[in-house]
Amino acid sequence: MLPIIAYWALSMVYHYIDVYDLFPQYRLHTPAEVLKRNHVSRWEVVRDVILQQVIQTIAGLAMSYLDPQECLGKEEYDVAVWAQRIRLLQRALPRMLALVGIDAMGLAKTLSINGHTILGGVLAGGRYPGLTQTTILENGVEAIVPAFAGWELTTASFIYWYFIPAVQFIWGVCVVDTWQYFLHRAMHMNRWLYVTFHSRHHRLYVPYAFGALYNHPVEGFLLDTAGTGVAFLTARMTIRQSMWFFTCSTIKTVDDHCGYAFPWDPLQHFTSNNAAYHDIHHQSWGIKTNFSQPFFTFWDHLLETQWRGDVRLRYERGREAAQRKLDGTAVQEHGVKGETVTTPARVSSDEPADTNARSRLRRKTATFDGLKGAKHGVTSSVL
Ligand SMILES: [Zn+2]
Ligand SMILES: [Zn+2]
Repeated sequence: MLPIIAYWALSMVYHYIDVYDLFPQYRLHTPAEVLKRNHVSRWEVVRDVILQQVIQTIAGLAMSYLDPQECLGKEEYDVAVWAQRIRLLQRALPRMLALVGIDAMGLAKTLSINGHTILGGVLAGGRYPGLTQTTILENGVEAIVPAFAGWELTTASFIYWYFIPAVQFIWGVCVVDTWQYFLHRAMHMNRWLYVTFHSRHHRLYVPYAFGALYNHPVEGFLLDTAGTGVAFLTARMTIRQSMWFFTCSTIKTVDDHCGYAFPWDPLQHFTSNNAAYHDIHHQSWGIKTNFSQPFFTFWDHLLETQWRGDVRLRYERGREAAQRKLDGTAVQEHGVKGETVTTPARVSSDEPADTNARSRLRRKTATFDGLKGAKHGVTSSVL
């Protein structure tokens, strides 16, 4: 449930920002572009995203049958297992120091005599004769047994609670990025794959937050659901870890489609992949570049598929063309007497393939009156 809640909650924040045009200075596209360049309506996007989330939920439920029985209350034992590993590692220390000519045992003795018993114990290969604890054996007899040193337990706790989960998370991120990069790139290399599945996501030339998961259901399953699923399984995450992982992945992908280049959004600066980066991939001129998603861009760098060069002029051209188109249709709809109807400028391959889509776009603009505004030549509430 969490990824779905996070998806819509964050999307609604961005939608609010869109509708009230709160940060026009950080917009990647103008409202005119939102209106004229996308080949799909918002409702179709919502419908397909919900379908994908239903499929995701079913896949998640199906996978929960494969989960081993969750075992709770075992944490202290698991920490002790790590403490034991640390103790065993210390066993090798005297021999390793001997290789560089240090008499570890002699040094340990001197340190212990001078009161540094713990440090002495480490150098002696993890021998702490003074560290004991009492325990009740199975036959009810009280016995004195060796105990772990405080530092061993603290380090073990750190490894168990923070280090291992961090490694699992990083592994998961790498798996998702790798999975998505190659599958995504394949979708652009193979014509059948592109036309049948991936072209749907590219109906959004001007991405917005909740369009992030607007995909063909098959693609949504293969790229997002299966990709994060494989990451979760191979990282051997617990359910609680997976809640963080799936939710973070969702938030990142929504943020990558938000349509704003915010200077203060940590998600946009934490990694080199962000809304501005992915937006290039959504443009007709950048579609064969910037395949990496959703976290890092290392595959684009390694395989040299990242966009190079200035984008400002290209964005400017897109803005102007959309504005001309909007002005043209506004004149057409109102049928202003004596004025020539401006032919909408062609924005390379952005044109809708079917005339239905085109007339739908025109119909949409009919409801917008007095479109000239201060910010982008259109009123802010056009969304
Ligand atoms: Zn693509
Ligand atoms: Zn996208």
